[in-house]
Formats: sequence, structure tokens, C-alpha cells
Amino acid sequence: MSDSYEFLFKFLVIGSAGAGKSCILHQFIESKFKQDSNHTIGVEFGSKVVNVGGKAVKLQIWDTAGQERSLSLSLSLSLSLSLSLSLSLSLSLSLSLWETYNALTNWLTDARTLASPNIVIVLVGNKKDLEAEREVTFMEASRFAQENLMFLETSALTGENVEETFLKCARSILTKIESGELDPERMGSGIQYGDALRRMHRQEKLQPQASKPDCAC
Ligand code: GDP
Ligand code: MG
Repeated sequence: MSDSYEFLFKFLVIGSAGAGKSCILHQFIESKFKQDSNHTIGVEFGSKVVNVGGKAVKLQIWDTAGQERSLSLSLSLSLSLSLSLSLSLSLSLSLSLWETYNALTNWLTDARTLASPNIVIVLVGNKKDLEAEREVTFMEASRFAQENLMFLETSALTGENVEETFLKCARSILTKIESGELDPERMGSGIQYGDALRRMHRQEKLQPQASKPDCAC
């Protein structure tokens, strides 16, 4: 797909170190497993244009270092990059590391405190391929997600559900834009118009003048 798009949505991937955040991002962008996964230093990002309900949407995904126990370091780094934290978060855990499940409450509390109420959050249970080493059951993670979070089990190794995770978030954001719940023009919305829509909006703003009906008086 070309790089022309209608919207740009910003995502932040958070969660404990070792959950597989960098591998998920790499699998999504490059469609392959990242073999030499080093610890992420600071914040890295990747972007990709996807088709969401017939609309070209550019997803800009920011990967954070997970060594810290809270979102505050990620947040300060994000802010120094003028990254809006208001749009979408992918909260990751490793299904084969119980402690990454235990840490979810802290991550979610931070996210809820720091982000806008409109934020779309998806809980990602990664390393689904390591079935024999599973420490977190589907039921446990689903219970954590309840009705408030979307939940998907993924494998950055096989690629299962990786694209679906980001598409699901993007669909949810698009629905919120269409229903008026999210206003792309609000400062810090985390949404930007692509070139095509920007041109259209500019024309709409010019049109009322240009198409004034002829006065009959
Ligand atoms: P991060 O700290 O959350 O960014 O985690 P990484 O992406 O660096 O991955 C941590 C480790 O888990 C690395 O050794 C990866 O090779 C491994 N890993 C990541 N995702 C998967 C997966 O889906 N399946 C398996 N089997 N290993 C994974
Ligand atoms: Mg990483």
C-alpha cells in the first residue's frame, strides 16, 4: 500500500520487560520475527499504513523500554517527543511469565491516570506459541480485561493475531471518530489527518464562500 493515508493514529506499546513488545512491533511492521531482540533503550517507533474499513490509516507505533516498573519514565520520554498519550495503548503481557500478568494492575492504573478517558486499550497476551510453558490462562487474562479492555492472545513468533491487534484498535478509534466521540481536531487527540483529508477539509472551509447562492434581491 502506498504511503498516502486519511488518518494517522498514534499507539504506545507498554508492559513489563520480556513480554515481547519489541517483537510484536517488529512482526507487525516487517512481517517477521525479530531474532536478535535486545533490550529496548528509551523509545523506538515504527509505522505502517493499513486498510481499516476501506480507509487508509497510518499507524504510528511507539515501543517503550519495559525495565521500569511504571509508566512514568515511558511517559516522560513520550512527552519529550511530543507524543500524545491519548489515543491507543497496547498493554502487553507474556502468557509464559506470571510476573508480567501480576504487573498489569500497576500499568493499567498508571495508564488510566495519565491518559485521556477516550483512550483505546488492548490487552495483549503474547507468546501464545509457548503453550507448554503457559503460566497465565485465557480465562485469567480475559477476567482482567473484563468489559473495559479488548483482549487478544498473540504470538510475535508465528505472527498469529499481531496485525489483528492493531487493526482492532484502529477500528475502534475509527468508530469513535465516526460517532463524534473522538474529535480529530482537538489538540492532543493523537489523531492527524493525512494529506487527502487535509485537502478536503481545506476545500470545505473555502466552499461556503465560493458556492454562495446568487442573490435574487
Ligand atoms: P520486550 O522487553 O517486551 O520488548 O520483549 P522482547 O520483544 O525483547 O522479547 C523478549 C523475549 O521474548 C525475546 O527473547 C524474544 O525472542 C521472546 N519473544 C517475544 N515474543 C515471543 C513470542 O511470541 N513467542 C516466543 N516463543 N518468544 C517470544
Ligand atoms: Mg523491548
